[in-house]
Amino acid sequence: MAAPSFDAIVVGSGITGGWAAKELCERGLKTLVLEAGRPIDPVRDYVEHVPPWQMKFRGLGDRKALERDQFIQRHCYACNEYSGKFFVNDRENPYTFDPDKPFHWIRGRQVGGKSIMWGRQVYRWSDLDFEANARDGFGVDWPIRYADIAPWYDYVERFIGVSGERLGLPQLPDGQFLPPMALNCAEQVVRDGVAKRFAPDRIVTIGRVAILTAPHRGRPACHYCGPCERGCITHSYFNSIGVTLPAARATGRLTLRPYSVVHSVIYDGQRDRAAGVRVIDAQTRQPLEFRARIVFLCASTLESTRILLNSKTTRFPTGLADSSGELGKNLMDHTMGGGARGMIPGMEDRTVHGHRPNGIYVPRFRNVKAPHPEFLRGYGFQGGGGRAGWGRAAGRPGFGVELKRALHAEGPWGFSFYGFGECLPRSTNYVELDPVTVDAWGIPALRIHCVWSDNERKLLHDMSVTAAEMLDAAGAKDIMPFVDDNPPGLTIHEMGTARMGRDPKTSVLNAHSQCHDVKNLFVTDGACMASSANQNPSITYMALTARAAAYAVDAMKRNEL
Ligand SMILES: Cc1cc2nc3c(=O)[nH]c(=O)nc-3n(C[C@H](O)[C@H](O)[C@H](O)COP(=O)(O)OP(=O)(O)OC[C@H]3O[C@@H](n4cnc5c(N)ncnc54)[C@H](O)[C@@H]3O)c2cc1C
Ligand code: SF4
Repeated sequence: MAAPSFDAIVVGSGITGGWAAKELCERGLKTLVLEAGRPIDPVRDYVEHVPPWQMKFRGLGDRKALERDQFIQRHCYACNEYSGKFFVNDRENPYTFDPDKPFHWIRGRQVGGKSIMWGRQVYRWSDLDFEANARDGFGVDWPIRYADIAPWYDYVERFIGVSGERLGLPQLPDGQFLPPMALNCAEQVVRDGVAKRFAPDRIVTIGRVAILTAPHRGRPACHYCGPCERGCITHSYFNSIGVTLPAARATGRLTLRPYSVVHSVIYDGQRDRAAGVRVIDAQTRQPLEFRARIVFLCASTLESTRILLNSKTTRFPTGLADSSGELGKNLMDHTMGGGARGMIPGMEDRTVHGHRPNGIYVPRFRNVKAPHPEFLRGYGFQGGGGRAGWGRAAGRPGFGVELKRALHAEGPWGFSFYGFGECLPRSTNYVELDPVTVDAWGIPALRIHCVWSDNERKLLHDMSVTAAEMLDAAGAKDIMPFVDDNPPGLTIHEMGTARMGRDPKTSVLNAHSQCHDVKNLFVTDGACMASSANQNPSITYMALTARAAAYAVDAMKRNEL
């Protein structure tokens, strides 16, 4: 191998890889970003303004192709005829699970990763979350507290632009917000009804989103076209392509290499350091090697862990940096799908304008002040209100002009609450290398073992009860509680498998996402999480990544790495 030609290697160019690239480049490091997927050109690839009649299947999708090539991805609401191209091909990217324990692993494989299709909901964690493991004994204690990460949340929010309402809640700290989006009239009715019966515990607010409501750092405000998962030509929502990667590029220190599938990390046993990475060129299938002084794994939770599992050495026979034996264990995902829907009477002379790309949020209220007798931790609700439209045609009697005329008028206002709950870290939920299956590049695939526990099921049930209570408080009619049976993975908040901790005997990473065992190797995506909280996690990954990059550069300056 040649001498290192880069100071840093970052694996992955999605939400965390973009942040690592920006921070390392801006702090002076010549940085190579290795991305497994293809490059993305917003002008060619983004399709948020393409009308359905210009799509081959009128936006309804090629069902046969989906069943053949994206039999897992198609379970995700955003994998449709427009944005299906941003999700992986499941035949090229296989993984295995027991048939009675399904795990729906939703992935993006291109420059930008899942930051192109993500839902952009961003909520800070609090000490209720960072102290949870220590409090109830599940998992290991986080080696950080809110005070350690709060300045990094500030830093990230100021850069990416987050809109939201300040609430002053200890369990959901406020951030550096742009003006909030507005609630529509049905949502205001629900907000007021909930406040009347449940204040101060239950609060309905507008979602906090990484979408601009005012011009911000050269990017224009959102124009409410709606389908953000198809891309955004104005860069009004945060993704790495439009925000962090350009910042990294502006330093002149970034090299971004697409079609570079990282196979494993090269370990230098004499120096006890990572020396670089082995890559398979996705187009030519040629094996390549790249060297650098530090390596950041940002390939997404399970892909980063897979790289470590594939990097076995004599010293680390179960996977690189796995002296604790915890690598692959404590997989989590949020449990989602308990809630209720109902009709909000009246206001039929009112409607909405545009397609607000955001909904409502109800911050966690269970196990905040008093312990709940039946379950640990808690959940929050997303959802929103709207008037029924053309979708009402399905199952409606009649046809022809009369039916069309009837459907021209909007239907009544409806409202739904949809819960997202915390998942406990448990060593019995884990990933390992499948002994047989390999991906299209010959790299061993994962075998995933993950099931919900009683605690997660109880949260789901409670969501349906409390959602119905809140709709009742708002005067809703035809209230229908529900509990959807979603398998783990489908919430796309997979976390854990290389957790942080204070003790190298029980954790893979320290408080700076640095491997206890291999000091110049960092894992800053969701693999590092020691618990899952109930808030959408990506803003926390971003803050942890920026914090780890600053730490790594300082440590390099002190010649520690
Ligand atoms: C539809 C949808 C809605 C979502 N909504 C939200 C939300 O509202 N809020 C929220 O917080 N989160 C949300 N998420 C989750 C969010 O997208 C992820 O948490 C986030 O993208 C994770 O960032 P990451 O950098 O770890 O991974 P990614 O953004 O997926 O980036 C990983 C990158 O690494 C690359 N890569 C993988 N393996 C290799 C390899 N071996 N070699 C080289 N490169 C590799 C991939 O190609 C990819 O580009 C949503 C996700 C989806 C799909
Ligand atoms: S709704 Fe706003 S953020 Fe989403 S694609 Fe349209 S302009 Fe961009």
